[in-house]
Amino acid sequence: MNSKIETRCVHGDTRSSLNDGNRPISFPIYQTASFSHIEPGHNKSGFDYTRESNPTRRRLEEVVSSLEGAAGTVAFTSGMAAASAVFELFSPGDRIVCSEDLYGGVVRLHNLVSRKNGLVFDYVDTTDPRNTANAITHDTKAIYIETPSNPTMRVTDIKKCAQLARENGLLLIVDNTFLSPYFQNPLSLGADIVIHSGSKFLSGHNDTISGFVCVKDEELSSRIHLLSKTTGAALSPFDSWLVMRGIKTLAVRMERQQENAKKLAEWLETHPKVTKVIYPGLKDHPGYETNAAQARGTGSMISFYVIDKETARRVLEKVRLVIFAESLGGTESLITYPLIQTHADVPDDMKQRLGINETLLRISVGLENAEDIIADLAQALED
Ligand SMILES: *Cc1c(COP(=O)(O)O)cnc(C)c1O
Repeated sequence: MNSKIETRCVHGDTRSSLNDGNRPISFPIYQTASFSHIEPGHNKSGFDYTRESNPTRRRLEEVVSSLEGAAGTVAFTSGMAAASAVFELFSPGDRIVCSEDLYGGVVRLHNLVSRKNGLVFDYVDTTDPRNTANAITHDTKAIYIETPSNPTMRVTDIKKCAQLARENGLLLIVDNTFLSPYFQNPLSLGADIVIHSGSKFLSGHNDTISGFVCVKDEELSSRIHLLSKTTGAALSPFDSWLVMRGIKTLAVRMERQQENAKKLAEWLETHPKVTKVIYPGLKDHPGYETNAAQARGTGSMISFYVIDKETARRVLEKVRLVIFAESLGGTESLITYPLIQTHADVPDDMKQRLGINETLLRISVGLENAEDIIADLAQALED
């Protein structure tokens, strides 16, 4: 992996050897369900059936592997399908220590599906490695973290988790959606598995749902491939192509969105109706140092508290440029109300402990002009 990440966003590690000899610049969409065989036991291309593998999806997987420094990547129909496949690696009775501040859909997956399958989750504040260490029992099989977390932007030390995982024979799983491989590579810090919602920064245009599992070795790679083939949530050729196209501009998008986010975070801090701004790029963020040590940037997700719930509701109703919608990481700035949207299914006591309340708003800063974004929030915050 000699070339720099901006180059790998465009080309992957290598020019593709997968396409058909017509030398296209844009990798073709292999819109086919199946591939012909020449004779029993011999199919020239190595592709059989698109649920199992497809050249367009494989090309995308190669590009994402190259960005994450992974031995293998599997592309799924959504981030949740990717996370679901990862939890299939475990057996009844296995315990997993998790960040308590997780994407709400993952908490719902635990409660609705994984528990029924006998998995047990121990939620702790993983920003302090002592909490993680104390939660490990002899049934623990993995540590699962998000950093920065969603929506309260807590930063967990990936290397310290990796050390705990190594000492106790556990898998370290990191959801890297918020910073994307452009800013953070957990596998290089000792993680075993990285999960992405590709619906966010990777595709980047608020137009595609997708997910990825990136792994550090061949053994895990074939296990995840087999799970994908078996459970059947592999990304379609067309959506694979869309995500691949999105990734070509990942570097420039991440840089500009971060620049916009820094301006917005600084402005929000000065606003009388904003009581607290949570952004890992602000020096007073408790995870500032840890994030700076393990990531190359601070991203473009900001959470903030306003003085009361009326103000929060007013902002959501009055924004004109910024869009009141779920999701993040795309070209359009989106504002979210975590309490009733992304984190609606998180149990109430957990929401309270994490500070997910009526005055918390989350914004994904897009590619618009920063002054326009600020002006829109300024008018929305007015009485
Ligand atoms: C969106 C998201 C997911 C789920 O991904 P989908 O593509 O929506 O299924 C998981 N983790 C994080 C951090 C997310 O933001």
